[in-house]
Amino acid sequence: MSSIAERLENIRERIAAAARHAGRAAGEVELVAVSKTFPAEAVREAAEAGQTLFGENRVQELLAKQPVLPPRLRWHLIGPLQSNKVRKVLPAADMLEAVHSLEIARDIQRVSEELGLRPRVLLEINVAAESSKHGFSPDQARARLEELYGLDRLQIEGLMCIPPYDPGPEKSRRHFAALRALRGELEKAGGAPLPHLSMGMSHDFEAAVEEGATLVRVGSAIFGSRPPARMPL
Ligand SMILES: *Cc1c(COP(=O)(O)O)cnc(C)c1O
Repeated sequence: MSSIAERLENIRERIAAAARHAGRAAGEVELVAVSKTFPAEAVREAAEAGQTLFGENRVQELLAKQPVLPPRLRWHLIGPLQSNKVRKVLPAADMLEAVHSLEIARDIQRVSEELGLRPRVLLEINVAAESSKHGFSPDQARARLEELYGLDRLQIEGLMCIPPYDPGPEKSRRHFAALRALRGELEKAGGAPLPHLSMGMSHDFEAAVEEGATLVRVGSAIFGSRPPARMPL
């Protein structure tokens, strides 16, 4: 079996090839290595192979791993955030990728004021209107944009989505394209840039890069398969 370093190298090459294919620079896309369910040792191995950005979907797991790993590593929270975890995660996460409701955005605003922070966030968009998934529907995002921009502590840097799982990456492509189109629309409506699109996972990150992803969240293709019980999707 290949090592984490070899798999990372392979993913990097595939990101670069997909970017070239779409006429983009490979440097426009950053890999978020999703280390959820894997031990700190696996993160260390990836860090030694040059990976610095990691994604966790649970606050507790992020907070457990971060202190035992080199401080130069950056962490994105990629899973939904609950109110009672905001205070703990804000100082630890470099970005909250899955702000999924106005309520949680207000909580983040309030705690950020108290702590004197200006967190970088993405809005999670429920692109296929799945009842099982978190996120703003595109209509809610349009309707709530002004209110969200009124939360001045939040640095809203873009959008994130998790399309319905389908092993064929081409099925995800139209959702990625829809997220990019919504980004363009919200930029116009809000008069502010939304530079980041976080989209694409192990099975569909190449299509995401071709459709404009700036962050791809890849877990199992780097670290191996996860036990089914812990699969969040
Ligand atoms: C687990 C997870 C990923 C990575 O999934 P893989 O299929 O292992 O690449 C990406 N994004 C989110 C939000 C996740 O929870």
